[in-house]
Amino acid sequence: MQAPRPDPAEAPREVAQSGATPTLAEMMRIDLHCHSEASHDSRTPLSSFVQRCKTRGISVQAITDHNQVWGAKKLQEICQGTGLTVIVGEEISSSEGELIGLFLEEKIPAGLSAKETIAHIKAQGGLVLLPHGFDPLKRWRLRPQVLEHLSSHIDIVETFNARISRPHWNRVAMRWADQHQLPQSAGSDAHTLAQVGDAWVQTPQRPINGPEDLLEALRAGTVMGRWTHPVVAFAYKIWDFAHRATTLPPT
Ligand SMILES: [Zn+2]
Repeated sequence: MQAPRPDPAEAPREVAQSGATPTLAEMMRIDLHCHSEASHDSRTPLSSFVQRCKTRGISVQAITDHNQVWGAKKLQEICQGTGLTVIVGEEISSSEGELIGLFLEEKIPAGLSAKETIAHIKAQGGLVLLPHGFDPLKRWRLRPQVLEHLSSHIDIVETFNARISRPHWNRVAMRWADQHQLPQSAGSDAHTLAQVGDAWVQTPQRPINGPEDLLEALRAGTVMGRWTHPVVAFAYKIWDFAHRATTLPPT
């Protein structure tokens, strides 16, 4: 099955300027939203990320499994010395919708209020990222009234999600981020290996050793990616589940 061609009118726009234009070789790609086999709805093996990210030119990959951090932590170990930087994240199901925590030390439980979830992220020195916050077809998006109430606690807004229901909702996120003068990110939201690397922030190369490095890199970056229609993405996921069920050893 072939993904529909994105409408040029729907293409992401550049969101930040970085002074003198670096050459492509001086740039790197960051994906801040991705799932692995540690998520209940993904079977992407942790062992496949190094090669896949290399193929797609991703230098910094956040692993943001649903309510888990063990996969991200394990991948961080696997990636020592490989040149791939892994950020330990978690897509947390608060009782009022999903939030992503980045640079986490330990798992944050699901089911807390959004405010409590944010407090847990900050207590670990982490960053709060708002994923797919404006797509009404994302059942678990953060509730709009909660978002407005807690907007001052959001550190990063995902303004390109490759699996959003319509590219329009990415543009709405972009406007909201502009209004609140917040750094913007891109997320493949990959649930299959093939989707890893479908969205990224392109930014001048720099080491990402902590939250401040990341925020500076995002501010100097450009949000980019390839949107996949959700029906196509769902079909890929079903295929991936069926295929990997027959090739992976039982756990
Ligand atoms: Zn996700």
